Amino acid sequence: GVTASEPASAMLSARPEPVLRPHASHKGSWGDVAVVGGAAGLRGAALLAARAALHAGAGRVFVAPLQASGEPTLDPFQPDLMFRDPEALDLPRLHIVCGCGGGDAVRAVLPRIISSARSLVLDADALNAIAADASLGKLLRARSGRADRPSVITPHPLEAARLLQLTAGEVQQDRLSAARKLVEAFGCVVVLKGSGSVIAAPGEVPRINPTGNARLAIAGTGDVLAGMVATRMARGQAPFAAACDAVHAHGELADHWPAGETLTAAALARSIAPD
Ligand code: AMP
Ligand code: MG
Repeated sequence: GVTASEPASAMLSARPEPVLRPHASHKGSWGDVAVVGGAAGLRGAALLAARAALHAGAGRVFVAPLQASGEPTLDPFQPDLMFRDPEALDLPRLHIVCGCGGGDAVRAVLPRIISSARSLVLDADALNAIAADASLGKLLRARSGRADRPSVITPHPLEAARLLQLTAGEVQQDRLSAARKLVEAFGCVVVLKGSGSVIAAPGEVPRINPTGNARLAIAGTGDVLAGMVATRMARGQAPFAAACDAVHAHGELADHWPAGETLTAAALARSIAPD
């Protein structure tokens, strides 16, 4: 993959190195990802992130839906996913994706998750909750001081605007500067999504991802990306490299999509290539 020491011109054009699976590995060797989100009416977002994590090669993937009482605890199309109560997650062991379809319910679980998760990808409603409550932003900032507790935030332009108290138009006018401001505010890795996703992090030259196209401009593709980032961290990649590689691979899937076939987020998650 692209390393931090390469010049910015190397960008993300290099294909990430394949990760070879040592013969003696077991499912515990590949990291446990848990997706916390998918409040009522938005369950699909959490399932998309979880399926993406599974297809990206996580050893075990858990789904912890919010506000789920008495519902089936199975994804019949992806029976390898394991369902858990969000309160019952062993956070210090888990690579957490939080906020995909979180609704307002995500607010209550965020303090524990931000304080304890082994690694963290915050998306969508988790970011909206942080924008609405400065105390959560402070927690994230404090977490970012710990190198052993990496975090990646993946806002689209409107979510970034809410976090920065700007308009989406202002964010789009200077995306690089918006990404830098988010790094300054929260001290973590930032993926500012959209055409030419910007990946920025403390002490790193920001990257502009060259892959991807407007076929990704549909519901659910951001949830798939969040799962891909988390799995790379679960498999031991450093957070900036994990974010760069995941964004690159996600865009490449869309760029190689068969002509005449509709790209949907569920199909995108299924199409993630093994590496
Ligand atoms: P979200 O906004 O959370 O649904 O995420 C949408 C995903 O699709 C992000 O990964 C975006 O970077 C990607 N995407 C959306 N529109 C485009 C576009 N026009 N070109 C490239 N990537 C895009
Ligand atoms: Mg989204």
